Amino acid sequence: MINITPKMSEQDHQLIHQSKIFRAVNIEDLFHLIEECELFAIPSGQTLIHANVRNEHFYVVLTGSMKVYLDAEISEQFISLLPGDCVGELSLFDGASTSAQVVAASDSRLLRINEETLWRLVRASHSFSRNLLFVLAKRLRNDNMAIINGLRHQQELENIANVDGLTGLFNRRWMNEYFKRQISRALNDNKPLALVLADLDHFKKINDIYGHMVGDEVLFAVASVLTQQIRPTDLLARFGGEEFAMILPDTSPDEAKQIAERVRMAIASTLLQFDNDVHHEIHVTLSLGVTSLMLGDDINNLLTRADHALYKAKENGRNRVEAG
Ligand code: GH3
Ligand code: MG
Ligand code: MG
Repeated sequence: MINITPKMSEQDHQLIHQSKIFRAVNIEDLFHLIEECELFAIPSGQTLIHANVRNEHFYVVLTGSMKVYLDAEISEQFISLLPGDCVGELSLFDGASTSAQVVAASDSRLLRINEETLWRLVRASHSFSRNLLFVLAKRLRNDNMAIINGLRHQQELENIANVDGLTGLFNRRWMNEYFKRQISRALNDNKPLALVLADLDHFKKINDIYGHMVGDEVLFAVASVLTQQIRPTDLLARFGGEEFAMILPDTSPDEAKQIAERVRMAIASTLLQFDNDVHHEIHVTLSLGVTSLMLGDDINNLLTRADHALYKAKENGRNRVEAG
């Protein structure tokens, strides 16, 4: 339970005077108002303000410390309040429910000011009003920072979810979403659209000969070469292990085949060089399957056709392009 201590000592007055909200305030002039406030002792672990309730008081920490949790759940994220800090003003002003939970981090003493007394302090002291504005401005600034950090964090999470960690290309999950939109746009606008699936030839051997780590480096290097080959409007994604997908908007079947052929040649003519403990020069080839959007297509039958074309390229000797 929270204990109310009725009498304020000289030391309490000093602590009040040292608090942010009473800084440079002539306490003697406000003595009658401060006497209206209550002094609290709150044991460690006890909750002072619950989240999502109506708060009717403004608190000044005199001794001890409080933790402010930014959600109703007691999570790792918190702000500490130390002697001289205050809390409760926002919900008091706007009358909305509290957004944070405030818990005593150690045995603490607090000054509790009710709403009416707070307004009387504002009217009575210019310095008190100015301090209150500072407190509010700092609170808003912190809230803005929290919002900005939250948005950044969200953006990072979205990026992580959509980007393949090894190659930095978009992953299959993202590609599927993007691809669906591109298909309906192309069908609506009556524009051509092509899909290319590309799979590294005998990649298992690369892993077997050089090891998985070098295999990873090869995948990264191939992704870089492919990135250089596509146009700004094309989309390249890592479709699976050693498989890549390219979506080519506004591209005719013939153009798509030419682009696939250019990509094939770019990979086949590149000698990938790696310098770890040993110097490796590795040559890889790609098989590619090309298909173009037809009326009534959806993502699934387009992918199936491209996959069949890719299979044909493998069957017909690899390091080649087939259309389907
Ligand atoms: P094919 O020409 O028929 O495509 O032969 P392949 O060996 O490329 O095909 P297969 O599907 O048999 O093997 C694919 C290999 O790709 C096996 C797997 O270990 C490797 N692989 C898939 N993802 C990764 C990866 O992220 N890193 C590495 N190093 N290897 C990978
Ligand atoms: Mg392969
Ligand atoms: Mg494969």
